[in-house]
Amino acid sequence: MSNPHISFEFFPPQTSEGAEKLAHTCTQLATLKPEFFSVTFGAGGSTRDRTLNTVKEIRSQGYDAAPHLSCVGSTRENIREILATYKEAGINRIVALRGDLPSGMATVGEFQYANELVEFIRKETGDHFHIEVAAYPEVHPQARSARDDLINFRRKLAAGADSAITQYFYNADSYFHFVDECRKMGITSPIVPGIMPIVRYAQLARFSDACGAEIPRWMRKTLEGYGDDSESVQAFGLDAVTHLCEKLLKGGAPGLHFYTLNQAKPSMAILERLKP
Ligand code: FAD
Repeated sequence: MSNPHISFEFFPPQTSEGAEKLAHTCTQLATLKPEFFSVTFGAGGSTRDRTLNTVKEIRSQGYDAAPHLSCVGSTRENIREILATYKEAGINRIVALRGDLPSGMATVGEFQYANELVEFIRKETGDHFHIEVAAYPEVHPQARSARDDLINFRRKLAAGADSAITQYFYNADSYFHFVDECRKMGITSPIVPGIMPIVRYAQLARFSDACGAEIPRWMRKTLEGYGDDSESVQAFGLDAVTHLCEKLLKGGAPGLHFYTLNQAKPSMAILERLKP
């Protein structure tokens, strides 16, 4: 594997204890020399300060960190303010998303789709930010068709995004097919696969149902069969996800973005095994 770009995603901790633990996680993961860490953003701005503070904390440890920014439920003024705060803090990379409207939140706000956010960021801040956007090899759950989703993905790049990180998946072919289709449509930007290590099956099944990521039947059946035996779940998960990463890198993926759920060990174990 020829020096793939590695990045790690966190969510902003809610307590000071969580923040302390995350600082430790970050120090451990930093030994793997990631290109950057990223920190999620609750749609509607619910984690606005915590996202910023977490990014600042990581940067103060000497590592590059990118906040996510989701636009659903926001006004242009909200987003303008957030961009100004990010810029002032020296941040120059953003993961730009639409987000999902939290239940009970009535208005979509002034942005309907992520391509509008990307366009706004470029209009307001020029080339200041490197902009990452989301991609869906298994098709976004609300898309009318795979073709539509691709066209919508292209809109985000045409609006000025630099590169993309995918939703997680366990079927390498979905990624290769998606990248092939993108290249046929003239999209040349890097598309980095998002990797979800398997730690707890029940939690993974819940996430996957919500975001439309498929756990192949043979994996589901195997994981279900382990029941409460978390050691076997993790050992199987480590084998399966390492194999997926190997395939992706061999097949030309430019890097790997790990959804860490704020834990160092599962991603580190995979990367350890991937070492030549
Ligand atoms: P969009 O690109 O806007 O697409 C959403 C849907 O609308 C798709 O079905 C698309 O086909 C369709 N669409 C897009 N543009 C148009 C258009 N112009 N006209 C008609 N239809 C269109 N969520 C968070 O809340 N916070 C996070 O921090 C976060 N981080 C994420 C990081 C990654 C790497 C990924 C893959 C997802 C993340 N998400 C996050 C989840 C994401 O917000 C949801 O998947 C959301 O449903 C879609 O966001 P998007 O930016 O892909 O939206």
